[in-house]
Amino acid sequence: MVAASDYQEPNVVLLGGPGAGKGTQAEKLLEDRDMQHLATGDILRDEVDKGTELGLEAKKYMDKGELVPDDLVVDMVQKRLTDQKGYLFDGFPRTIDQAKALDDVVDLDLVAYIKISESEAVRRLSSRRVCSDCGKIFNTIFKPPEREGVCDECGGDLYQRDDDKPKVIRDRFETFLDETAPLIDFYRERGLLEEIDGEQEPDEVQKDIKSALHQGTG
Ligand code: AMP
Repeated sequence: MVAASDYQEPNVVLLGGPGAGKGTQAEKLLEDRDMQHLATGDILRDEVDKGTELGLEAKKYMDKGELVPDDLVVDMVQKRLTDQKGYLFDGFPRTIDQAKALDDVVDLDLVAYIKISESEAVRRLSSRRVCSDCGKIFNTIFKPPEREGVCDECGGDLYQRDDDKPKVIRDRFETFLDETAPLIDFYRERGLLEEIDGEQEPDEVQKDIKSALHQGTG
């Protein structure tokens, strides 16, 4: 029997196109799980804000809805891996080469593929707003803040990401289809993939992810 103290959190990838709800689902999952959240988009935006060398380089790609080169992203992720189990990868990997690099260092328990259509992605992302202080995600249509432009959680200013403008959203979706969608078969062949209907209510999506986690990890 495994004692409660021996319990180890699983290693999970949240896979999905732009607007699939990866960030929202990660936030919910972390409410009652002690996992290490690695959201490459958040880390990269932070590097851009700080004006680091990596941030300046990454911005060129992010502004166009393209992927930041694999070597930069893999190096950035590897630097943040400790020896502990229980990673929640959000927005990583996004290419087969990134997935292979991850394979070398982490044993995954589940890849939850959150699936939504392109029209739904455009609808959601064009109304998405993010808190500039705590990163909490709002949506002017589905989940408006109590006071317009102000975070309910911390009072920070809400902003629209530069890459949430309609033209860039469509480019990001193209990038997803060309470069990230091949990961669906890659992980399905390894028996790790669970497909989740991302167009349900967020709580229903969360239920499906949790039930996939229970099935996949006992
Ligand atoms: P996200 O916040 O996950 O939507 O990511 C925003 C942008 O950051 C993407 O459109 C990419 O330009 C870049 N990005 C995030 N994660 C990765 C990754 N794993 N590989 C390459 N580029 C990434």
